[in-house]
Amino acid sequence: MAKRDLILLALDDERALKSIQDALQTVSYETTNASDRTILKKIIKETIPALVIIEEQFDGIPGIKSAGEILERFPAMPIFIYSEQESFVLYKDVIQAGLSGCLYPPLRNEDITSAVERGLNRARLLGDWLRREVKRTTASLKRRAKLTKSELNRYQIIFANIQDGVVILDEEERILLINKGMEVAFELSGKDLRGKLFSTVIDHPDVSSLLNRGQSLPLKYHTINFDDGRTYNAQYTPIGGIGSVITMQEISNLKQLDRLKNEFVNTISHDLRSPLTAVLGYTDLLNRVGSLNEQQLEFLNKIRLSMDSITALVNDLLDMSRLEAGFDTRREHLKLENILKIAQATVEPQLKLKDMELHTSIGKKLPELNGNPIRIRQVLDNLLANAVKYSPEGSTIRVSLKSEDNQIIFSVSDEGAGIPLSEQPRVFEKFYRASNVSKKVGGSGLGLAIVKSVVDWHQGRVWVESKLGEGSTFFVVLPTYNSTRNKTLNKLKK
Ligand code: ADP
Repeated sequence: MAKRDLILLALDDERALKSIQDALQTVSYETTNASDRTILKKIIKETIPALVIIEEQFDGIPGIKSAGEILERFPAMPIFIYSEQESFVLYKDVIQAGLSGCLYPPLRNEDITSAVERGLNRARLLGDWLRREVKRTTASLKRRAKLTKSELNRYQIIFANIQDGVVILDEEERILLINKGMEVAFELSGKDLRGKLFSTVIDHPDVSSLLNRGQSLPLKYHTINFDDGRTYNAQYTPIGGIGSVITMQEISNLKQLDRLKNEFVNTISHDLRSPLTAVLGYTDLLNRVGSLNEQQLEFLNKIRLSMDSITALVNDLLDMSRLEAGFDTRREHLKLENILKIAQATVEPQLKLKDMELHTSIGKKLPELNGNPIRIRQVLDNLLANAVKYSPEGSTIRVSLKSEDNQIIFSVSDEGAGIPLSEQPRVFEKFYRASNVSKKVGGSGLGLAIVKSVVDWHQGRVWVESKLGEGSTFFVVLPTYNSTRNKTLNKLKK
């Protein structure tokens, strides 16, 4: 006969103990007795019985309390309370405590064994159910873990094969992940770069300045040039809690196209200039070779005005392509106040035509600039000409020139049309003309692009503050001669 379950008996009443023991042993259950609470605890700990029967008061402590302690460790353990007397109150307490039931005298064998069978059966069912649940949950967790792993694999393959260069850095700028695109760009293939400082792996001045700019500026578009002619556009994006991501797209072909387009524009503008000069010359000569009637004179005037604007456009195009090609690299010591005087004289006739005034405020002892006089003059000319062009008759233009922290700050304010807020960042783009004036006032949309190009080339900044219908102020900040010189010296020292 197979060995039956072990039943633990914790009863002070010896007669009851014997009856229960005999009844259970007759049907081949194994029994063990606990003579006090200490032994009860020891048996529970060491043998884990299949069922427990405790007397209502065992070793001076209520049996329900001892039962509660057992359930804390083994919540599915079937426990019966033996009491000398049948009591409804006790039965209620037993059920409330989550125990299996009560046993009372007279203790007939079949009552004892059937109660024990019931208790054990229930515990078995509960055990089976628990095992099934654990199995089910584990299987589902395993499935999920497997899914995450395969997903991770997929992401890694996608990341590795992105054409653009991508590198993810931690907060100390150590490489967390780097893809093939980035390795190819910097010729790093085959090395394990994870955990290394990005700046030590990639020693490139454009990358260093991207990292420096990335930490201080919100917008981080940046060009990275290689000696072999490749050009990349790079973005630096900080990611809270991780570090940052740098992405790079190769734009060498776009740069090449841009170069071709500039060459084309340059050639066309050059070729247009000579016939234009001829047309202008002959229109001037026309009324000298014979008298013209009033209508002919009017038409001639119209031709001249149109020719003027075509000439201005061609000149702007030529200037722009010269700037983009990097000509005019000559630099010298300049006094901006002197250039301003010349620009002021140039704009004087237009001011008079519109009955406008120009007020200047020039700081004392302004430091010199290190710049190209022709190009700087062009900046002032363009800003002043725009201020006049986009302002109403009789209004005032204010020009200010001062120095602050190794910088010269030049500003032109007008009381003109202003620029819609959403279009303000775009007015420095080539050919962009703001919607509020583009149909009323003529222009090429190149003047401010030239200004920006010149200012950038001088390591300066230009921006506009404007209110629609109230006026605009253009600011130009240029580094002084000493500050540019110090920077160059520092670079050489490095
Ligand atoms: P253009 O004057 O030939 O159109 P610019 O490049 O000089 O080209 O200027 C670009 C645009 O910026 C102008 O078309 C105009 O919409 C706006 N703009 C420039 N200066 C002013 C100004 N002082 N007041 C209002 N709008 C201006």
